[in-house]
Formats: sequence, C-alpha cells, structure tokens
Amino acid sequence: MPPTKRPDRDLLFDRDVCITCAGCVGICPEEALDFYGLEWTLYSDKCTACALCVRICPVGALKIEKR
Ligand code: SF4
Ligand code: SF4
Repeated sequence: MPPTKRPDRDLLFDRDVCITCAGCVGICPEEALDFYGLEWTLYSDKCTACALCVRICPVGALKIEKR
C-alpha cells in the first residue's frame, strides 16, 4: 500500500469496497488524491497522513496504518 510523507504511516485503500464517490479527492488539502478514469491514485510525496479522507469515506475504504 502507498506510503505517505510521514515515515511511520501508510494510507491503505480497499478497491473492492470503494464506490468511487470521489469524496476523498475533493477533501484532501494536499491534492494528494486523484482518479485517472476510475483508477484511484495517491501521490505519496504529498500525503501528510492527516486522515481527512479516511473520515469522509462513506464506506470505510481508506485507513491510516502505523508502519
Ligand atoms: S491522509 Fe490527508 S493528505 Fe493524505 S490523502 Fe488523505 S486527506 Fe490527503
Ligand atoms: S471517499 Fe471512499 S468510496 Fe469515495 S472515492 Fe474515496 S475511497 Fe472511494
């Protein structure tokens, strides 16, 4: 799973659960998320592991995990 700018955190994404609502893309203050077509993408060099996207996801497809 994609690492983040934080050395101790990863952002986990469950493609099977995601309903492609794009809520996470819209709320990310770092513009670290995007959809290319329906392909979810995390720009690891921008993500601060703030967890805003985790909180807004309506289906629990995102999770911050300690390394
Ligand atoms: S954890 Fe924060 S910075 Fe990283 S993708 Fe989610 S909203 Fe953006
Ligand atoms: S908020 Fe959750 S369901 Fe919506 S696109 Fe992001 S990961 Fe998928």
